[in-house]
Amino acid sequence: MSKTFYLTTPLYYVNDVPHVGHTYTTVIADAVVRYRRMCGDDVSFLTGTDEHGLKIERSARQQGIEPQELVDTYAAEFRETWERLGLSFDEFIRTTQERHYRAVAKLFRAVKRSGNVYLGQYQGNYCVGCEAYVAEGRNCPDCGRPTEFMTEDSYFFKLSAFQEKLLRFYRENPDFVVPRSRMNEVVRFVEGGLQDLSISRTSFRWGIPVPDDEKHIFYVWFDALTGYISGMGYGTDDEKFETWWPVDVHLIGKDILRFHAVYWPAFLMAAGLAPPKRILSHGWWTIEGEKMSKSKGNFVTAAELSNVVQTDYFRYFLLREIPLGSDGNFSFDGLRTRVNSDLVNDLGNLSQRTLKMIRSYFGGVIPKGGSADERGRELRDFCSETARLYRERFGDLQINKAVEAVWELISRVNKYLVVNEPWILAKDPNRRAQLGSVLYHAAEALRLIAVMLGPIVPEGAASIMNQLGIHRPLEGNRISSLEWAGLESGSTIGKLSHIYPRLDKKEFRVKVKNRRAPGAAAAAAGAEPKKTAAGGQEDARIDIKEFAKVRMQVARIVSAESIPKSTRLLKLKVDLGSEVRQVVAGIAGQYSPESLPGRLVVIVTNLKPAKLMGVESNGMIVAASDGGKPVLATFTEEVRLGSVLT
Ligand SMILES: [Zn+2]
Repeated sequence: MSKTFYLTTPLYYVNDVPHVGHTYTTVIADAVVRYRRMCGDDVSFLTGTDEHGLKIERSARQQGIEPQELVDTYAAEFRETWERLGLSFDEFIRTTQERHYRAVAKLFRAVKRSGNVYLGQYQGNYCVGCEAYVAEGRNCPDCGRPTEFMTEDSYFFKLSAFQEKLLRFYRENPDFVVPRSRMNEVVRFVEGGLQDLSISRTSFRWGIPVPDDEKHIFYVWFDALTGYISGMGYGTDDEKFETWWPVDVHLIGKDILRFHAVYWPAFLMAAGLAPPKRILSHGWWTIEGEKMSKSKGNFVTAAELSNVVQTDYFRYFLLREIPLGSDGNFSFDGLRTRVNSDLVNDLGNLSQRTLKMIRSYFGGVIPKGGSADERGRELRDFCSETARLYRERFGDLQINKAVEAVWELISRVNKYLVVNEPWILAKDPNRRAQLGSVLYHAAEALRLIAVMLGPIVPEGAASIMNQLGIHRPLEGNRISSLEWAGLESGSTIGKLSHIYPRLDKKEFRVKVKNRRAPGAAAAAAGAEPKKTAAGGQEDARIDIKEFAKVRMQVARIVSAESIPKSTRLLKLKVDLGSEVRQVVAGIAGQYSPESLPGRLVVIVTNLKPAKLMGVESNGMIVAASDGGKPVLATFTEEVRLGSVLT
């Protein structure tokens, strides 16, 4: 029977679109599960969205929509982003799903039965304007207004009763938190004493009601953390839950370590369930040297990242650049340099030169390996040592180190070609067997490299395999294929092509600069207006030339239909007089598709085409934003279709 391996990302909070931080976590998870699948494990990879809380309730109210509608839009955006980036999750759990409600209720009842829940009073300084408790201080850190001391009924979890149990658990499982330095932080925190934890609120409504006392709703962690078991059948499918729990790895950012390493195991222990096996806490990225923030303008969404480069490029950069657990700096220039030097030069060149020589000297047929000479034997040994290191490091979740080992092999094979000079051997018919052996060794090493890179850069790895003439899907590769001589002499190589195009400095910088242009609607929806130090708006005036760049024309809506799985978007066909175009517009909440045909509207016609939820949009409809609610611009007089607005 194969081993099961269950890994999670955090459930992402849906107050924002997926950005580079979410992408990092999800890419690590994807690399790890691809590796485990290669090892033959039965894998389940869970991700999802955390959708309750005051922030969501308030933000929905401001936009004049129901919280459910708001979270549906964001959850779809997360799910579709991961699908578009080819991230191979198996489960997507949303905390607004019925199965999740059932799991939270079941967990609460189990914890309550164990005597670890009591009704008490939560007290704190409360900001009426922000409708939230503030951590400390008399004034609200968000709005600066004075706070009020408030008391409300709340259910508490007896966390204080778990100090000894947790410390014993940490002692017995010293690798529970990776890296070790973070394990030590957690131990010190618990040794310092634990206070009981407030797990419910009565001051807002957008959450899961507490069983048998529905004026309470669960507060943050008791709800969100339960997603890791509700997605795996807890409360709905016992057999599934038995199969997958306890989880092998919770992958998280370091900011939420305490909740995962202290509260969560305590909840589970109280309910009589096994704690997680391991928590892997990764570091944070600064962007271009600074903390990522919308107001600094260095905010990078997942969509922008994929507008700028192909998936393999940022996967490679994110997985290679920093050791798991450390912080790193993301910069587009750094990404370009890294990609050009490693993927385009080292890997791309090795693959090209090896395969080209097999094509020109052996008509594309893989030559015989023959009996290896000393250099050949050395290369084989280096390959098997690399495979060993790769497995050891990947098994330890040291992904960047595993990748480093593969790159040492790449440079070793490049050297092997240089010292053996196959281009000289090719001139001497008497040394044909030797030439064949050299090229076989290089090609076989290339195959091993491609197998090992499958979890890191799946597109490039698949391309190398195809060019080597191995046409099974990447998922068919097993760790056992890391044995030498898997490449068959006498087989024919595939069609050759460049795996990775070079990133040209100038072109790339332009792309980075314009990364927000396509699909800008999604980015702009979350953007905050820039403020100056004085609190006023920055001077955003433009000259007439800049205005003239935007081409707006009159059009008539011909047809409108909703887009499956989107609550916000409609697909429109608009008649511009000389042509009919397809435009996607985020107006579904306010306009029904039936109400739109025949309406005169204004379209920005010189926007670059963009894809929204997989549907091409060739232009943008102009609407006023009335408190977040779109109102279409129109004309009350007759006007010729295609007329330009000036
Ligand atoms: Zn406030």
